[in-house]
Amino acid sequence: MDITHELKVAIAAVRLASTVTQAVQKSLVTSDTLEKKDRSPVTVADFASQAVICKALADAFPQDPIVGEEDAKELREPGNAALLDSVVTHVCKARNAASQDDVLSWIDRGGTTPDVNTKRYWTLDPIDGTKGFLRAEQYAIALALIEDGQVVLGILGCPNLPAVDTVGSGELRGPWSLGNPGAGVLMAALLGRGAISLPLNAATYEGSPVHVDTVAETAQARFCESVESGHSNQSDSVKVAQALGITAEPVRMDSQAKYAAVARGDASIYLRLPTSAEYREKIWDHAAGSIVVQEAGGTVTDAFGKPLDFTLGRKLENNRGIIATNGKIHSDVVQAVGQVIG
Ligand code: AMP
Ligand code: MG
Repeated sequence: MDITHELKVAIAAVRLASTVTQAVQKSLVTSDTLEKKDRSPVTVADFASQAVICKALADAFPQDPIVGEEDAKELREPGNAALLDSVVTHVCKARNAASQDDVLSWIDRGGTTPDVNTKRYWTLDPIDGTKGFLRAEQYAIALALIEDGQVVLGILGCPNLPAVDTVGSGELRGPWSLGNPGAGVLMAALLGRGAISLPLNAATYEGSPVHVDTVAETAQARFCESVESGHSNQSDSVKVAQALGITAEPVRMDSQAKYAAVARGDASIYLRLPTSAEYREKIWDHAAGSIVVQEAGGTVTDAFGKPLDFTLGRKLENNRGIIATNGKIHSDVVQAVGQVIG
């Protein structure tokens, strides 16, 4: 099957959404919203991003279901008229005029719950890493295509990821895009055809190949994990690092930018260790990131070394936690995690 058309549509859709999220971040995220813990900017950007991507996919592939993180139920409530207004304004700025009903119906296209009979579907996280978005640090727009339970295409739009690796200088966290117009990375992967990195804010489909690093000794590895201790067990990851002989501090960043970091060799390991027995990962938090790392030469499993199973609805019901590595050290990391979490 030739999915070059899908890839182009998906790249263009993620770029369009990123113009929305970048505009919202510039105009609405202030130290004031941060201090008041006011989440409204991320809510506006989340809905507007899902609207423009669902609309682009609906135009190109009207038969394809979309499994998105958001739905428009809350936006339809009369008390949220101002929020809806703001979402529509931002959507209209990014593309042609759209009515409130258009925008609501585009967002609702993301409401599919897939099952074993859903042969082909898209999954979308319109803003992954909402905390990072509000801090003007890392966040991602993540879009993937799944066929017969396999991720076949993945796109990560990372508006605040530096185009060049600055990990060595210890600068991986910071509000780059706000003062650095050269920032922003888009990574794209096609099953069996590799992963590429492209500029986020340009209209080219030419990218450069992305490869994981060559670290073969776990002691030399650098690992990344969530900023949020509620999303990954950071005290367990300290023990895993000790077991692996890793002395470098973990790089903490929000969102699937962590998968991008492993894919291009900024880090050798992404650890996401369970914080509870009940939590199940959402498919849109891992579909795009996992294919990008795999196509860059790495390996992605759950915390117990099991392959991710994308056939069970909106969550990875059969998996817990995530381990993504450069591949060479994967079994060592799985073993060390097993010792720590049992
Ligand atoms: P990160 O930016 O890596 O911290 O991950 C952000 C994602 O964590 C969000 O998109 C949520 O879907 C997800 N999330 C929320 N609660 C949990 C949890 N208890 N464990 C793992 N992930 C979570
Ligand atoms: Mg998410």
